[in-house]
Parts: sequence; C-alpha cells; structure tokens
Amino acid sequence: MNYAGVAVNSPRLHRGQTFCYAIPPGLNLSAGQAVWVPFGSRVIQGIVLLLSDEPSVAETKEIAGIVADCPLLSPIQIELGRWISEHYCAPLFDALALMLPPGFERRTVTYFQLTAPDLIRGQGDLPLTPEQKQILRIIGEKKKTSLPELEKAIGKRKARQITDQLLDRQLISQTLELEKAKIEPKTLPYVRLLADKEEIEAAKARLNKSRAYKQAELLEFLTEQTRPISVSELRKRLNCSLATIKALVRRCLISVERLRVRRDPLSHLSLTTSRAPILTPSQHAAWESIRNTIVREQPGSPPVFLLFGVTGSGKTEIYLRALAHVIAAGKRGICLIPEIALTQQTVERFANRFPGRVAVLHSGLSPGEQFDEWQWIMEGNCDVVIGPRSALFAPLSNLGLIIIDEEHEWAYKQEDKIPRYHARDVAIKLAQLSNAVVILGSATPDVGSFHKAQQGEYQLVELKERITPRGYSPLPEVSIIDLREELKAGNTSLFSRSLLAAMQEALAKSEQIILFLNRRGTATFVRCRSCGFVFRCPRCSIAFTYHSVEKRLICHRCRYSIPVPQSCPQCFRRHLRFLGIGTQRVEEETGYFFPEARLLRWDRDVITRKYAHEELLKDLRDHKADVLIGTQMIAKGLDLPQVTLAGIISADTGLNFPDFRSSERTFQLLCQVAGRAGRGVKAGRVIIQTYSPDNYAVEAAARHDYVGFYRKEIDYRRQFNYPPFSQLVRLVYSHTNEALCRREMEKMRLILEERAKEHKIDFPDGVGIIGPVPVFAFRARGRYRWQLFLRGSDLTRMLSQLTLPWGWTIDVDPVGIV
Ligand code: ADP
Ligand code: ZN
Repeated sequence: MNYAGVAVNSPRLHRGQTFCYAIPPGLNLSAGQAVWVPFGSRVIQGIVLLLSDEPSVAETKEIAGIVADCPLLSPIQIELGRWISEHYCAPLFDALALMLPPGFERRTVTYFQLTAPDLIRGQGDLPLTPEQKQILRIIGEKKKTSLPELEKAIGKRKARQITDQLLDRQLISQTLELEKAKIEPKTLPYVRLLADKEEIEAAKARLNKSRAYKQAELLEFLTEQTRPISVSELRKRLNCSLATIKALVRRCLISVERLRVRRDPLSHLSLTTSRAPILTPSQHAAWESIRNTIVREQPGSPPVFLLFGVTGSGKTEIYLRALAHVIAAGKRGICLIPEIALTQQTVERFANRFPGRVAVLHSGLSPGEQFDEWQWIMEGNCDVVIGPRSALFAPLSNLGLIIIDEEHEWAYKQEDKIPRYHARDVAIKLAQLSNAVVILGSATPDVGSFHKAQQGEYQLVELKERITPRGYSPLPEVSIIDLREELKAGNTSLFSRSLLAAMQEALAKSEQIILFLNRRGTATFVRCRSCGFVFRCPRCSIAFTYHSVEKRLICHRCRYSIPVPQSCPQCFRRHLRFLGIGTQRVEEETGYFFPEARLLRWDRDVITRKYAHEELLKDLRDHKADVLIGTQMIAKGLDLPQVTLAGIISADTGLNFPDFRSSERTFQLLCQVAGRAGRGVKAGRVIIQTYSPDNYAVEAAARHDYVGFYRKEIDYRRQFNYPPFSQLVRLVYSHTNEALCRREMEKMRLILEERAKEHKIDFPDGVGIIGPVPVFAFRARGRYRWQLFLRGSDLTRMLSQLTLPWGWTIDVDPVGIV
C-alpha cells in the first residue's frame, strides 16, 4: 500500500472529502492512525481512512509524519464518523474528532535558524534589505526562533514574506515542531526495590545494627508489597520521613521513579459495593423478554428495546442487569445519561455495582481527567462507560450494549457545535455497526420513539408499577387548578388558593415542597388575564410571540404579524399580560406567604460550581430547606423522599411556545415533576396551575396517561406532516445586517428549489420550505438570525453534496424549531 486517503483537519472543506497522500517508504500505516500532512503552506493533522496501491489523483504530496504509533480509531468508528458526516452534513474530520482523545488537536510551529551563523555574522556586506538584515539579526540571537516571534516583531505578512526570501537564498532553514501538548499524563514518584532478597536481608541486618530502624522497617515493608507503592502512600502508611527514603536511595537499595497515574474522576465519591437485588415480578417479566430476545440472536440488526416505565419503576435496575449479562458474555456497555450533574446518583449506582470497572466521560472533568479516562478505556480496563452524549464516542472495543436513559431528553442533541448530531440516532447506528443491543428507557418516550415501537421497529417493554419503600405505590394524586377561576375570585398572586392551602399543610407537617417553573418561553406570549385567551396566529393557530423591538406579535411559523392589541377580542377587557415569571419572583412570593419557611432556589444562575448540585441535593436530603424552587432542571433525576407536594406554578409557558413539539415537551415536564412527589414513605400530591385546563397535554399528564397523550399527539403530527411523518432540516443565517439576512434567505430558497428539481423531488409536495422566520432569540449578540426549514421525506438525498454558502449553518433533525 503506497497511498493513503486522509481526512484532514481544515475547516470549510466539503463534507466527506478526503485527500490522497503518498506514504513515504519505510512508514507503516494503518487505517485510523493520526498523521501530519502538508496542506497548503501548513502542516496539519489528519486521520488515515483507507490505504490503496494507486493514487486517486495525479499529483500527491507525501505524508509528513505520524502523530501516534497505533490507530486511534477502530474501523467501526471510522464507519460511524462517515455516517455522522453524511447524515448531519458535517465535515468528515469534525465527525471523526468526536472520537479522538481529549487534547488531541495540536498545531505545528515553524522555527528558523541560520544556515551558516559565522559566515552571516562575519559578512556584514551581503546584499540585503534592511528588513532582511533585521530578521537575520533576530534569528541569529538565539539557536532557533519561532515564526510567531518574528510575526510579533515585524507583522504577520512581512514575517512570512521575508523568511520566504531568506529561505530561497538558503540563508536560513526551517524546522517544524509540534506545539506543546495541552494535556500531559500525570506522574507520581514511586518507590522500587533494586536489590534482590539476599541483599535486602543483609542490608536489613546492617541497618538494624547501626540503629537505622526506620530504614530497615521501610525495606521490610517494601518486600511485602505486591504492587508499586508511591512515595506519598509510603510516608502515610509508615509515617516515615523523606530523609529515610533518600538514605535508602543513596545506599542503592531502592530507587524512586515517576510512574503514570490515572486521575480518577470518581475518587471523590465514597463507594460501597452493592449487590443486585431480587427483581420484582414485573421487573422479572421485563428482563426476561429482553434477555430472551438477546439470547435468540436473530440474523440482521440486533434489537432496539424501548423500556417504558414511570420514574421509580425500576428501569435502572434493568439496565444494571442487562450490563451484567453483557459483561458475563465478555462484552462491554455504554450508558448515556442526559446531564451528568443531575444524575450523580445514577453514576454512583453504576460504580457501586461494578466496582473499579466503570469509566466516566464528560466535559465537567478536568482535561487531564478526560485524557486519563480515555486512555484507561482504550487500554481495555473498564466494562462500562457512563456519561452524557459524548460517552458514545469512548474507545470501547467489543461493544455489546448501549443504554440511553431518559431517551426523550433534548440534551442528547448537540446543537451548539458541529456536528449537530442526536445521540439516540448515532447510538442506534453504532449499535448496528457493532452488532450491539440498544435499550432506550423513559417514563415519557419521545413521540418518534414510541411511534417506532408501535410500528414494530423497536420492541416495547413495559414496567407498570412504582417501587418505593412502601412497596408498590400508586402515582401521586394530581389536581388541575384553573387559574381563570382564581382571577374571578380576585386572587392575583402566583399561588392559587388550593396550592397555598396545600403548602401550609405540608409545612405544618415538616414535609418538603417543590415549586416548579418552566422558564423556557417566559415573556413570549400574550394572554388575557380575565378569560385566559391567548393570542394565536389565525393562519397557523400557534401562539404569537411578542417582539419588543417591533412592538408586534409575530407568528414564528408563517411570519404573519399584528400590532400589540389593546384589549382582549373575547371578553373585551384590557387585562392583557405579557407572560414572564422568574424563579426569583416565585421565591419572593413564597417568602411573603411563608416567612418561616427555608427556601432554596435552584436554576442555571445558581448552579455554576462543579459539585454545587450535589451540595444542594445533600442540603435537601438533610432537610436543611423546606421549599425548593426551580426551573425544569429540578424535574430530572432527583430522588427526594421527603417531598410530598409538587406545585407547578404555570403549565402554560411551555404550551404556548411556538414549536410543534411544545405539547410533547410540556407533557414530559409535567410528568417528570409529578413523578418527583411521594417517592418516600409518605404519599405525594401534585398541583398543576394552568389557564388551559382542557389542553390534552395537561389533562393526560394529570392522569399519568402517556398513551392517551401519545394518541392525540400523533394525530396532530400526522395531520400537519410533522416528524415522525417527515424529516426536518433547519438552515440558519446570521448577520448584523437584517436586510442582508432576508436577501440570503431568498437566495437559499432558490438554491433549494433548484436542488429539489435536480433530484426530481416534487416541490412543494415532496419537500416543503417553512419560513423564513427569525430565530426565537431574535437578535443574539447584536446579530440577526433568520432560519428556513426544509420538510420532506428524503432530505439526506437532496442535501448530499450541497455546499452551504458562507455564513450558513445547518441542523438536521433539530429538536426545537424556535
Ligand atoms: P427508575 O430507573 O425507573 O427510576 P430505579 O431502578 O431507580 O427506577 O428504582 C426505583 C427505586 O427502587 C430505587 O431506589 C431502587 O433502588 C429500588 N429498586 C429497584 N428495583 C428494586 C428491586 N428489585 N428490589 C428492591 N428495590 C428496588
Ligand atoms: Zn379576554
């Protein structure tokens, strides 16, 4: 094999593009290996994807060197990278980079030195320009001088230009060196015995004779050890001084050398090994149906299970069981959780069940910890990798199982960076490539996932009862409070009379309360405070969004807009309200009604430090607070046994969000909050306050009726041809000039219509364009952001080979559309 196809780390390449390089003689390369390659005037990193005897182009450059000796990516990972690049319209290197070790990306630095220092210094009369002389002088001052140093001295362009001239005249030469690694392996001093048994015995006798008892004791201790002992451990365990160790080093009996150690991200946890409990009958039935399917090993892709069960029904126990099963068969597993900070309890459970065999990967770890975890996994030291979406890309060989807990969570979609992938879909692809089983778990499955289960594409497994210390327990009783009635009765506070009464009762019994606020979508829609009327677009019936800049209500779907109304068209009163309530306001009002209660606020502004979640959680568990107030974050993954009342201040904020998924989202959040109450010894109660008590998402959540909700929701999706009945692609353009944004939108529309024609896709029946509409966070950082949506059934085909014009970003299968 003389040639290599390489994915290079250069932005703005056509997606999927690779470059052909010649392999210099004597260099042995394999696919998945990282290399340095010349690219333009630079040398950059690349990944070898394939090897061939013949070049794919007439002229090839040579590979400059290797970055690492062994392949960093497996053939399966390369295949996965290609799929991600294709499906999400992302550059190939960016897709592969997901799987490279932390801190991998490094640049080269160019250094210059004089070719003949004496000659140049001696001959001051060489025909040179003053600038050339200046550069030569700078370079001559040191053994080698880097290009950035020269650029600082005389400017970027000049430095390049003049060094090129001097290189041509062979007055200087250049070398390339790697920039300093951002992450270094961590090492600690370890003690090693140098002498053999007899020598040690003799030495011990000598030492005891000369009353160097401490040194003798240390030698004795070291001979008893079966593993390397670090200096600090030695000092702690023997209470010996550094001088004692040094004395033995001087006698050449021991040596101290630095060994690599792993920065263990779980070291702050106090772990206690746990044994698997006996499964409850319904868990047993669920696990049997999973196990039987796995064991049967039918031809074709292995199954995807949708484990559907309310919070507390024992899903995690099934995950652990499935992992143990897979590990017993000599394979490994990945478990994805939505957000590590909120699921520390889950991580602990895994670490306790598989002591020493669990790796954690997430961005909250220090770069060093991340690197060590990656290395540790690569070396095959663990059976289970747990973490948020990025854990999917761990270098885990022999993959047998991928678990996605809370599979409906939006956190699984990467939206802020390229590639904008969805971890659920990537996991299913990875499982296909690795012949691994997938278990998706949720109390409120994604409507698309449940639809697939209905179609038989996924296998539905149900857990119907909650397990609590009281044994099986019913879900908490949920009451819906109609806020319009409150207004009629003259109550204008945030709390309805029922909620106030329930809070009073709970506090009197020293029980804990959660007050929940859905902050997404605050101050976005306009409602009449007398009759509850919400202003909606007459064409799309989606709630209007209030834009303060234009002082208009704008429909985010069709762009139709109206001036801000003065009064309600239904009851003609002038009680219009622009909705916006924050957690602070809830906190204030709670304090007003219950000055005695100890309050704890929990939202993104409060939670910033690394372990702040755990600390807050502990305070709650220890009952250092009575009322917890928070945004949707508190709905996730918490197990707070003393909470008996959950109050939802307003269910409507989410419902009136101009997004086709707003009902699904609201339903999920309401269910999650409802699931928080009454998990302990006492039964729980939930109060939902709303202006839309008849809304099907609210009603179904109050009945804990996922299937009822799903039936209504899937009808709506079918009727309007939204996912899962179509695919969506979002195209965003952002610029400081709004007129330019609008022009770009029109240009893009033409490009897309053209492509649809080329691919013989009917327009607008096969593909439709929605928009252009402004992005919800309309003017982020002084820039206008506008978007277009494509809706169709085979957009991947249509988008293949579409090169986006400068300034555009693309998001395939976006989770939110506002
Ligand atoms: P989920 O993942 O569905 O929220 P969990 O697996 O966390 O449910 O189970 C809820 C609670 O019940 C946990 O405290 C767990 O320890 C306990 N539990 C689960 N399965 C069993 C079992 N078979 N026997 C005893 N306790 C169990
Ligand atoms: Zn009204």
